[in-house]
Amino acid sequence: MISEKIQKIKSELPQWVDLVAVSKFHTPDAIMEAYNAGQRLFGENRPQELAQKVPVLPKDIKWHFLGHLQKNKIKLVVPNAYLIQSIDTEELLRAVDRYAAANDIKTRCLLEVYIAKEESKQGFSPEEIVALLDKLRTEPLSSTTICGLMGMASFTSDTEQVRGEFKRIAELYNNIKNSYSEFLPQFNILSIGMSGDYKIAVEEGSTMVRIGTGIFGPRQYY
Ligand SMILES: *Cc1c(COP(=O)(O)O)cnc(C)c1O
Repeated sequence: MISEKIQKIKSELPQWVDLVAVSKFHTPDAIMEAYNAGQRLFGENRPQELAQKVPVLPKDIKWHFLGHLQKNKIKLVVPNAYLIQSIDTEELLRAVDRYAAANDIKTRCLLEVYIAKEESKQGFSPEEIVALLDKLRTEPLSSTTICGLMGMASFTSDTEQVRGEFKRIAELYNNIKNSYSEFLPQFNILSIGMSGDYKIAVEEGSTMVRIGTGIFGPRQYY
């Protein structure tokens, strides 16, 4: 069934939208089922789980890290992640960059933008993102490429609210892409859309959706 779900979702996505299969809490066997259906991008949200899965699964998987990252776990994530999607403070970004530089690794990141109304969500406000990018012009990173934005909409059945939040993130993304094109030539990923809202996200300009439940079914939290 995993392979059928992947085929179905892929057939619905425009070809320029990448599908990240969010495999957190799912077993290597389930991941292999998706892999055998052609899936190569997978997402994890816990550093330890990522570091355990990477060595036992095929080398051509591109792992995405999506969870809150504490500084003492950077060493588990930077060597294993093709893209860290959840950079939510400047301090974390600088720490990732320092670790990467010290270990001769080039790392790719997205900045997590906070739009949703829920109090608990992590990330930068749109204003903070612009301020950070301006600061990076004078205090540049050495081993990190900023490749775009990641965002989540509020967890609500109000689809117009979700659409409005995605619109704001997409507007910020497009503004940055236009105004910083020389400074950030690789800024070309807008990661919005999960199982419940990816169709709306794609309509609003997503270039990358992150789907867990819609592929693997419900997670068993252990
Ligand atoms: C878990 C997770 C997803 C996938 O959520 P589903 O609703 O299962 O598709 C996407 N993005 C992030 C950041 C996540 O933590």
